[in-house]
Amino acid sequence: GVSDLNVVAIEVAASRSARILSLAAGLDDDLFEHDGQITKREIRAITLSALAPRPGELLWDIGAGSGSIGIEWMLAHPSMRAIAIEADPTRAERAGRNAHAFGVPGLRIVQGKAPEALAGLEAADAVFIGGGGSDPGVLDAALSGLKPGGRLVANAVTTEMEAVLLAAQARLGGNLLRLQVNRLAEVGSMHGWRAAMPVTQWTWIK
Ligand code: SAH
Repeated sequence: GVSDLNVVAIEVAASRSARILSLAAGLDDDLFEHDGQITKREIRAITLSALAPRPGELLWDIGAGSGSIGIEWMLAHPSMRAIAIEADPTRAERAGRNAHAFGVPGLRIVQGKAPEALAGLEAADAVFIGGGGSDPGVLDAALSGLKPGGRLVANAVTTEMEAVLLAAQARLGGNLLRLQVNRLAEVGSMHGWRAAMPVTQWTWIK
């Protein structure tokens, strides 16, 4: 069953004793094989909530990186479907390995650059843009690949991508959030809050 596979996933991904995965989105970053380019746990949990997976739905995960968003979408229910689009061949391969390790080999990996790589894909119920969103044509292709009533969620770490999202919100409406996570860190012999880079998130319903 799914939970057996997930026990294996933990052993493979984290190389420590087997543990059952949480049912909630926002799994530990360290459970995924990644190179630092991963949507961090707390931001990922909020992102999955905004994507709002429902049984049987199809997600496009554009700029999939480690595949973490597509994988957590797939973990929501056995009926879920997702396509991970990733330009970098090493990361695309890694996303495939992560999907197998998490027991969701049905995650489809498309290695290629958006928007070209999006041509001909089945229309999506939800689209996430985690990378490539400021490349010409990517946002428009994402918007047109969405079914009527579908959800688009786009995260920006760079000001270039944030500018794209502010313009999109001004043109189309939807909601903007600015997320900022602070973690306890050592400051000499004492402690303080270390700020992670803020993330601007645009959510829009077609
Ligand atoms: N959400 C991912 C992290 C994304 S990092 C995770 O949780 O792991 C952004 C990714 O977008 C990078 O891997 C980068 O290679 C990819 N990318 C950038 N431009 C792209 C484009 N035009 N098409 C596809 N992928 C792109």
